[in-house]
Amino acid sequence: MNKPRSTWTPAGLHAFVDGSGDLDTPEGVVSARLLRRQADPHEALDALVATGTLERIRRGWYRLRDADDAVVTAVAAGGVLTCVSALAFHGIWVPRDDIPHARPARETIRLDTGVHHCSIARRLPSPVLAVDPVALALRTASACLTREYLVAAVDSAMDAGLARHPDLEEALWWSSHRGHEALAATDWAQSGTESLLRQRLRSLRFPVRTQVSIDGVGRVDLLVGDRLVIEADSVAHHTGAQAYRADRHRDLMLTALGYRVVRVSWEQVTFDWPAVARAVRRIVDAGEHRWPG
Ligand SMILES: [Zn+2]
Repeated sequence: MNKPRSTWTPAGLHAFVDGSGDLDTPEGVVSARLLRRQADPHEALDALVATGTLERIRRGWYRLRDADDAVVTAVAAGGVLTCVSALAFHGIWVPRDDIPHARPARETIRLDTGVHHCSIARRLPSPVLAVDPVALALRTASACLTREYLVAAVDSAMDAGLARHPDLEEALWWSSHRGHEALAATDWAQSGTESLLRQRLRSLRFPVRTQVSIDGVGRVDLLVGDRLVIEADSVAHHTGAQAYRADRHRDLMLTALGYRVVRVSWEQVTFDWPAVARAVRRIVDAGEHRWPG
């Protein structure tokens, strides 16, 4: 789920420290370094802890009452939330992992148990935020995810408008070779399923285009050749009576226009890929992905 983004400003932070305002952070964890940028820090911090507004997690890090569990776990272990966990926190599609991924807040720190320790290729300054921003989280994830999943995460970040190509170029420059490959393979996808489908079909050398606009129908997820439409069905976007009717309507329109339509679920891509590949292969071998004549 997409979390709201932090909306604090220096003025808002100042108001929080002097007790006249709330702090709007969905992660609910703040560093003393950030708070100390405001006036009169030590006394103010003590006062916020005394009133129960803040609770100390470990040296230099405090939580608000409704803090995010994964963020608190990462910080309590001696790190900050990064990699797939930070990406999921920002609303970016990643394969699910219930163990928080963390990187050490300082290089000398060894993370406690309960988190997945993610390495980062180069030295970074000590973090002031409890959750890594998108570009940095993608950089960490380039060592943790397979290339295929990393591309899906980059696709998702771009689709959500949370990352731009130049920023990622910079962030992934120092990352593994996989990071560069992922950036080169990124394309427009509206779901993780769609991204995996595109990558796998391309790896089998099927001629695939993404998000193709078809007159009278709108955009379809993937088009193989000229007329084989493949729609990636995710539970998030295709559940409920309204979505069900809309999907059937699209299928009928596409069929009436002469297209072939195949719908593929996340489970099929992940657990039954050979069957999906066989079905597409059969249509393509029969030449049915091209207009007759
Ligand atoms: Zn990781």
